Amino acid sequence: MTSENVKELLIRVIDSEALYQQAPCGYITFTTDGTIIRINQTLLSWLGHTAEETLYIKKFGDFLSKGGQIHYEMFFRPMLNVSGSVKELSYELHTKQGTVFHVLFGAVAIKDDNGQVIAVNAILTDNTDRKHYEQELLLARNQAEKEKRNLQFLADLTPDLIWTTTPDGEIDYINARFADYFQVPGRTFTQDQFLTRIHQDDRADFITAWADKLKCGDPLSHDLRLENHNGEYKWHLVKSVPHYSEQQEILKWFGSCTDINDHKLALTKKDEFISVASHELKTPLTTLMGILQVLERLKSNPSAPMLGEFIDRANKNAKKINSLVGELLNVGQLTAGQLRLNKEYFNIHELLDNCCQYVRTEHAFEIVIDGDPELQVYADAGRIEQVVVNYINNAVKYAPNSGSLTISFSKLTEDIKISVTDNGPGIPEEKIPYLFDRFYRIDHGGSQYAGLGLGLYICAEIVKRHGGRVGVDSELGKGSAFWLTLPITKY
Ligand code: ADP
Repeated sequence: MTSENVKELLIRVIDSEALYQQAPCGYITFTTDGTIIRINQTLLSWLGHTAEETLYIKKFGDFLSKGGQIHYEMFFRPMLNVSGSVKELSYELHTKQGTVFHVLFGAVAIKDDNGQVIAVNAILTDNTDRKHYEQELLLARNQAEKEKRNLQFLADLTPDLIWTTTPDGEIDYINARFADYFQVPGRTFTQDQFLTRIHQDDRADFITAWADKLKCGDPLSHDLRLENHNGEYKWHLVKSVPHYSEQQEILKWFGSCTDINDHKLALTKKDEFISVASHELKTPLTTLMGILQVLERLKSNPSAPMLGEFIDRANKNAKKINSLVGELLNVGQLTAGQLRLNKEYFNIHELLDNCCQYVRTEHAFEIVIDGDPELQVYADAGRIEQVVVNYINNAVKYAPNSGSLTISFSKLTEDIKISVTDNGPGIPEEKIPYLFDRFYRIDHGGSQYAGLGLGLYICAEIVKRHGGRVGVDSELGKGSAFWLTLPITKY
């Protein structure tokens, strides 16, 4: 740039008119009724008008929206009269092209010697970007509010108890399920209140684990019993994860309590069952091993008088083990849905007669079979025999002084019904609904009966798979009739 050019530039820079016209903001002067008497080029270019179209022709209010005009009349003019100036008013200007232009508006009043406002000098700055950011901010806030409502809705719908805590573990949010479980009014619950609802046997362990996690910032996973509003304790899995800031500081803990009560009870039941099953297997096995030791000693003397009896006893115990293992295998098959039925037509009388052969020979039982000797049924003969044998074995086991057993069968409207009736002690009414449940056994006081509580469960499952039903009619002191039905039509 030459020195001549620099001079020219300097003159232009200090030329106040040029500065006025080309300033990066709008300047405008208008009379009290709004008539524009001076306006700079910057503002004219924002509005899309020329000076000729504007000066002494347009009023400032012409460029405002309806709302802006009202604001101008109601607020701007009185304010200017009272304080002589206004600052940072936000207006929308309507351009010649029909677009909207956002400005920040500041003005001072020009007064005459009597203090009367005669004109207004105003400065307008481009507010489009700020408006844009404000709108973005508003949108983001609305979006965040919406997300929050959605999350809250989701949190309230889940069956889990959901909560959050401050970094030091104080609860600051609970979902509807949480409030419902503990019956908390107003959805406020402190950490201490929570701790008092933990079963006393689980409390100390939980406090130690939670304090440890709060300190080290690792996720927590802990089983405990929580007391609900009815005073019942239910097992829950408590999980909590920390939420970290970019600076690796914990901002919040997010937590949930999942009801695992049924699962825990099932596990306990399973443990109990394993101990019962092991015990039941161990008794005949120990006896069998004892007998085998004796037989080992007797093997050099095959004519020993007790030999036959020992072999019989060994056989009995081996059969017991075999039947227990059989029951376990059956349950395994049933739960895996692998029980296959090979159905065929067979004669019921023949099958029942077959079932009681061994009882007739081994036990002092008179067995009467009562029913149409020609009646046929379509079912898996082997499995139905298993059910009837189970009923008969139970009668022999639990009604040993019965003396006689009646096995009857008859054709009903849609089914064939088979019943095994004993004259034993009968079953208390309140126990009857559970007899066919898995693992269910009645406590027979002093008398010890071996068993896993699986026999009747297996019977019920086999019959159910045939489309039939099982049941028992029993009266204390008179005896019990265990029955099953099988559909007449092919199922
Ligand atoms: P388990 O014989 O292994 O206990 P079951 O499922 O066969 O298992 O029988 C469940 C319970 O039903 C038995 O523990 C017994 O108390 C009762 N029960 C079964 N049959 C009879 C019966 N004929 N008379 C009295 N009680 C019976």
